[in-house]
Amino acid sequence: MTGESKWMTGILSDPGTAEKFRKFRPFAAQAAVRDFQISKGVISGVVEDRENKFGVTLRVSTVPESVWEDLTRTMAEEGRFSADLLSGRMPEGIEDVFGRFQVSLYPRSPAEVYVSCECSEEPVWCRHGARLYLCSGEALEKDPFLLFAVKGKAREALLTDLRVKRPAAAPSGEWKGGRQENPEDFWVLRVPAEKLREIASAIPPRRDSA
Ligand SMILES: [Zn+2]
Repeated sequence: MTGESKWMTGILSDPGTAEKFRKFRPFAAQAAVRDFQISKGVISGVVEDRENKFGVTLRVSTVPESVWEDLTRTMAEEGRFSADLLSGRMPEGIEDVFGRFQVSLYPRSPAEVYVSCECSEEPVWCRHGARLYLCSGEALEKDPFLLFAVKGKAREALLTDLRVKRPAAAPSGEWKGGRQENPEDFWVLRVPAEKLREIASAIPPRRDSA
């Protein structure tokens, strides 16, 4: 199951919300998302179709810093978590690590996402909120670090934590897997801050359900 579908599973576990998302699919297929932004606990954007545009904000719970301490230490014990993330993949089994500390990486139900939209169409999960949520899933499928950022740990902070907490038995420079030629580059890989906006602008309107 991909990160994007896991992003949807909890939301669609509620039959009423699943029905709404089905109903909104034609809209989601043609509405654009502009000014897409992700920050700690907040995903926002402007959802625009031919007639209207509305600002939408989605709020999700964040992971407390004290929990990040233990969480990142556990992640650092397995080098594959960093390696997967740097390869653009959501690591297999990562939700289990979060679960061990009684927090979740993905929303487990629609009630765990607070939707706020400028339209007055429906109180919860209007079509604009659904469109932005779907857009978020596509964005984090392209860059799993975005999901950690919304949970409260931005890319550089996460990578620093994982590096610092690596067990001493795995000295730096010994890492042998992955794509980088120079093992040192593994830890200094940088992505420009504009990357997030780039990703958002590269997401076309959904066409799979038109
Ligand atoms: Zn709306």
